Amino acid sequence: MSSENVRDVIIIGSGPAGLTAAIYTARANLAPLVIEGEPSSTSDQPGGQLMLTTEVENFPGFPDGVMGPELMLKFREQAARFNAEFITEKVTKVDFSARPFKVWVRDEMHLAKSVIVSTGAQSLMLGLENEQRFYGHGLSSCATCDGFFFKGQEIVVVGGGDSAIEEASFLTKFATKVTLVVRRDVLRASKIMQQRAKDNPKIEIKWNSQVTELFGTEKLAGVGLTDTVTGEKSKLDVTGLFVAIGHRPNTDLFKGVLDMLDNGYLKTKSGSSYTNIPGVFACGDVQDHTYRQAITAAGSGCMAAIDCERWLESQH
Ligand code: NDP
Repeated sequence: MSSENVRDVIIIGSGPAGLTAAIYTARANLAPLVIEGEPSSTSDQPGGQLMLTTEVENFPGFPDGVMGPELMLKFREQAARFNAEFITEKVTKVDFSARPFKVWVRDEMHLAKSVIVSTGAQSLMLGLENEQRFYGHGLSSCATCDGFFFKGQEIVVVGGGDSAIEEASFLTKFATKVTLVVRRDVLRASKIMQQRAKDNPKIEIKWNSQVTELFGTEKLAGVGLTDTVTGEKSKLDVTGLFVAIGHRPNTDLFKGVLDMLDNGYLKTKSGSSYTNIPGVFACGDVQDHTYRQAITAAGSGCMAAIDCERWLESQH
C-alpha cells in the first residue's frame, strides 16, 4: 500500500523536538505528517520521555509546574490546531536514497520532500521488575529535572561514569547524603570527575554493588543491594534512586543511512539540524547527548523546522 501524495514534510517522533517542529512547519503551511510512535512502547511512545515523568518545574511558562504528559498534550494540541496530521504508530523502515523520501509504517509507504527525525533517546534502566511503577515516584533518570524534589532526603545514584558523578554532585545540593552504587571496584568516569566525587563529603561510594530490589508501596522507600563479589545482600532506606548508566539514542532505523557518532547519536552540521542527506534534518535528543532537556529539544525542533522550510524554498 502506498500514498501517492508527496508531502512537504514528514516528522518522525513526537517529543518536544518533533512537536515543536510540527507547530512551526504547520504554521508555515507545510502540512506536516507526524508519525508519533506507538502508545504501548516505552521507547517509542508518543510524547517521548516526558510521558514517563511526573512534575516538570523547569519548563519556562509554567510557574506552578506542569505534569510531563499534560505538557506534551498541550504541545500536540498546539500542532493539531494548525492542522498537523498524526499517525499513532511507529515507522518501520525508511529509504532516503532518492527523493521523494520514503517512510513506511508497517506496509504503508508515505512520500515526502523532506523529513525531520526526532526519535529521541532512552535512558538505560536496570531492568528490575517494578522499575516502571516507581518511575516518577522516587525513581528518576534525570537529576536536573527531579533533584529539587529530594530536598533533605537520602538518595542512591547508580553508575560509575561521568553522568553518574555529575548527577551525584548535583544532587548533593538537595540531598543530605548521596550513595553512589558502583558495580565494580573502579569508576569509569574521568579522573577529574572521580576526584570531584571523592572530595564531596556528602557522596559515599559503595563499591562492587548492584541495586537488585526496589521497596515501597506508592513511592520508593528503599533499595536492596547485592554485593557483586560476595553475593551478600543489604538494604538502604532511601527515598530517591537515580539511574545514570547511560542513554541510548533511538537510531536503529537510520543505521547505514544517516551519519552517526560512535555512540549512535545522529550527526548534525554544527549550529544547524542538517544531517548528511540534504532534506533530512534531525533535532532533539536523537542528536544531542549533552543537554537532553525538554526546552533544548524544543529549541532544536524549531531550528529543524526553519532549516527545513528554507531548504524546501531553495529547491523550488
Ligand atoms: P558511561 O557508559 O560512560 O558509564 C556508564 C556507567 O554505568 C559505567 O560505570 C557502567 O559500569 C555503569 N553501568 C552500565 N550498566 C550498568 C548496570 N546495568 N548496572 C550498574 N551499572 C551499570 O555512560 P555515561 O552516561 O556516564 O557517559 C556517557 C558519555 O558522556 C561518556 O563519554 C562521558 O564521558 C560523557 N559525559 C561527560 C560528562 C562531563 O564531562 N561532564 C558528563 C556526562 C557524560 P562499568 O564501568 O562497570 O561498565
